[in-house]
Amino acid sequence: MAKCRGNKKKGKIKVAINGYGTIGKRVADAVKLQKDMSVVGVTKTKPDFEAKMAVKKGYKLYAAIPERVELFEKAGIKIEGTIDDLLEKADIVIDCSPGKIGAENKEKYVKAGVKAIFQGGEKANVAETSFNALSCYDKALGKNYVRVVSCNTTGLTRVLYLIKENFGIKKVRATMIRRVVDPKEDKKGLVNGIMPNPITLPSHHGPDVQTVLDVDITTVAFKVPSTLMHIHSINVVPEKIPEREDLLEVLRSEPRILLLKENDGFTSTAKIIEWAREVRMRYDLYENCVWEDSVSIVDGEIYLTQAIHQEAIVVPENIDAIRAMFELKSREESMKLTNNSLGIGKIKI
Ligand code: NAD
Repeated sequence: MAKCRGNKKKGKIKVAINGYGTIGKRVADAVKLQKDMSVVGVTKTKPDFEAKMAVKKGYKLYAAIPERVELFEKAGIKIEGTIDDLLEKADIVIDCSPGKIGAENKEKYVKAGVKAIFQGGEKANVAETSFNALSCYDKALGKNYVRVVSCNTTGLTRVLYLIKENFGIKKVRATMIRRVVDPKEDKKGLVNGIMPNPITLPSHHGPDVQTVLDVDITTVAFKVPSTLMHIHSINVVPEKIPEREDLLEVLRSEPRILLLKENDGFTSTAKIIEWAREVRMRYDLYENCVWEDSVSIVDGEIYLTQAIHQEAIVVPENIDAIRAMFELKSREESMKLTNNSLGIGKIKI
């Protein structure tokens, strides 16, 4: 294992964010809210409105691509240096670059001797272990390179972990109906159709869940013309058949799960987002949104439908991964700190 600096028992963990896009900006804001860590800088590849916003928010800005420093200077945006300068100042870097670029960036992190967290767009072998706070916090203890699994995998893993811990799991079948792109995209556009993606079985989500939870799972996935959230239709064959109320209580008692009811007007992802616009900055929902009405036991099998806000759900996981890698807190302590700072478990409907 490569040597990394930073067995931080004292002082705040200095966090760098490489790639200030959809996930990067949210992780930066979440780090800023923690008492035991601080943002030492963020990177941008170009001097656009996001770069200006980062500076406005008080983040020190660095060029992700060293040859582009001049571009920022020409645009009149204050820049502190390049990614290499930033890595010198950091105890850990959160790579939030587009999928597959993180693996290319890793070389820089190893050279700089800095711990790194990668996102779900990377292959599992980019890191020593994959991460989900509920299912495998302890596997990341003291590690130098960790991958936080994707939005869909995080959403699946949370509910499956709870069911497995309480009732055991023989087999899972899950269908993912995926938003085709994030709301900000203007390059890829919406598909005018429903795209089996992939057409062959299984979709990558099942094997990805298995990097963080030992469970028998087969997944199928479709992309649909929406930008708001993913939907998961989940069917679990449990070892012990639960009473519906007991299952609901297990879900209700986990702060990272929100139970929503059709009677409250939550008839679609559009309505969930409309509500979230009033309760959270950028309508960020860090929780799995499980429709309470969908939670059913039929012929001894569990069924439920949940919505996942893809832009936000991995944010708390990144924060917990930082604490695990520096062995700062136990799973319970870290999740509690993260939840409190982000308002998870505090929303009353
Ligand atoms: P994004 O395109 O919104 O942001 C990526 C940022 O990285 C952009 O600002 C881009 O300019 C910058 N960048 C490009 N090349 C770079 C480089 N060489 N070095 C550093 N930065 C570079 O992407 P995103 O949606 O934030 O996704 C980031 C990662 O998070 C991916 O692995 C993705 O799979 C994963 N993820 C995305 C979502 C989602 O729904 N958006 C959810 C969970 C996980």
